[in-house]
Amino acid sequence: MHKKKVLVTGGAGFIGSHLCEALINKGHEVISVDNYFTGSVANVAGLLNHHNFKLIKHDVVNPLYFEVDEIYNLACPASPALCQSNPVYTTNTCVLGAINVLEYARKSKVCVLQASTSEVYGDPLCHPQRESYSGNVNPVGPRSCYDEGKRCAETIFMNYHLQHSVPIRIVRIFNTYGPRMRPNDGRVVSTFIMQALKGEDITIYGNGQQTRSFCFVGDLVDGLIKMMENKSGFIGPVNMGNPCEISIIELAEKILSLTGSRSKLIFLPLPHDDPKKRKPTVDTAREKIRWTPNIALEEGLKISIDYYGQVLRQVTSETSV
Ligand code: NAD
Ligand code: UDP
Repeated sequence: MHKKKVLVTGGAGFIGSHLCEALINKGHEVISVDNYFTGSVANVAGLLNHHNFKLIKHDVVNPLYFEVDEIYNLACPASPALCQSNPVYTTNTCVLGAINVLEYARKSKVCVLQASTSEVYGDPLCHPQRESYSGNVNPVGPRSCYDEGKRCAETIFMNYHLQHSVPIRIVRIFNTYGPRMRPNDGRVVSTFIMQALKGEDITIYGNGQQTRSFCFVGDLVDGLIKMMENKSGFIGPVNMGNPCEISIIELAEKILSLTGSRSKLIFLPLPHDDPKKRKPTVDTAREKIRWTPNIALEEGLKISIDYYGQVLRQVTSETSV
């Protein structure tokens, strides 16, 4: 294997920390750049003493100057609640972050992978979603700071490629879950598991009939690396997710059953523009880079439940000291 120096922006976040770990395990040198807006040093605690790992505090809205062989651009909050807590900053991170990594890549001709999102499809009128679908996004709605920021980032990536020959990859990530997703960042899997473990009410937004398709983080990270490493000239955009679709109410029931919790379901208003259904087609990923997800929802949920159980036990032991 050829050892590479890899930059991961957002490397102290949920997906970024797993990606850093996987790249280190493959023998690469990794620089993680993060401003800790939604991530934390604790996510990469296991790597801090590794000779091939470096952690740098930096905001991607400012230019980057790191000498590396390739870049994964993940820096951006992903939880709808956190994105919307500072919407101007979210769009700036998407757009200026893209320009800054691409400017570096233009000068040094290194490949950059963009962590895009299923949110580019908005509240989709086509189901399941293929890469050729252009989406249904409200440009002035509460989710637009993220959705339009990520759409604009795709445009910028494609045009740096076409105009300046920058090697790129665009991956549209669908809902991903697993250990290290912040327990309190409002996303559904971590929220429901924490509520179930604490015996609190499970907060279903709307009637819970809206659907999502959940991918385990290990599967996704394998896909990101496969996409970066493919030498066929395939740049995407490519969907990455697990096409196993489930309604939010079924998800809640599954988590209650796996945790043995007696929490009650309560129904709260559906957030504005909340997509009614979401499911990827992953034919392109299978055909072009031979990637398919392997971890079934139940298996991934059990791993996540163990993780959040540990988080809770740690909090309890710290508060009882
Ligand atoms: P996360 O919030 O855990 O990680 C994002 C990381 O980026 C955090 O460590 C945060 O501190 C950092 N960051 C945010 N703004 C920054 C800035 N301006 N400068 C430097 N660092 C900054 O989220 P995640 O779930 O790990 O998502 C990672 C990437 O994957 C994001 O780009 C997100 O849009 C994309 N994505 C994730 C999902 C998912 O379901 N998890 C779905 C679609 C797309
Ligand atoms: N959701 C919910 N209760 C919660 C958090 C989320 O019912 O406490 C719903 C939310 O309305 C959405 C789905 O779960 O329909 C997924 O939400 P999440 O924020 O995880 O991701 P996204 O909306 O970006 O897919």
